[in-house]
Amino acid sequence: MKLIWSLIFLVLIVGVCFYWYGHSRGRVLKGDNWTAKQYGVNYIVSVHNGAELAAALNDFVQKNKITLGSITGIGAVNRATLRFFDPATKQYVDRTFDGQMEIANLTGNISTKDGEPYTHYHVTLGNRDYQGLAGHLLSADLNGAGEFFVTAVPGGRLERTFDEKIGLNFYDFSK
Ligand code: FE
Repeated sequence: MKLIWSLIFLVLIVGVCFYWYGHSRGRVLKGDNWTAKQYGVNYIVSVHNGAELAAALNDFVQKNKITLGSITGIGAVNRATLRFFDPATKQYVDRTFDGQMEIANLTGNISTKDGEPYTHYHVTLGNRDYQGLAGHLLSADLNGAGEFFVTAVPGGRLERTFDEKIGLNFYDFSK
């Protein structure tokens, strides 16, 4: 009987060691245009050169079923389409900028719309004259590195609802 308990204890200790070792080394994940490493609720995401940034990040979020979280990152692009929302007309004005630009900062959040992961990205881009350009990111072509840090809220969910009066998808804490 004593031997059985000793064996169970040994198996438990070995299990905990394996779990800790695996956890500290992280788990490598791969997508079509990204590679990531997971440490618990945190992910380090590298978007591949030449990929469309927003689509690659969206794919990462969807494949990992993240329904609530945040994204930050840096990198470089050679084309970006930004969107400006005009509250007076409730219209979007989209504009594409060409040329090599640094992503000085990308900040994004993850929530859900109709139950599906919904991402929202804003960027600050810097051109070769060190001048800044900023706005809501629609799409961008990565040219260089794309390094992102994603934090997920496990089991978290925050749904968005379209607000007719303002013309935007707002957080809906009643859902
Ligand atoms: Fe926005």
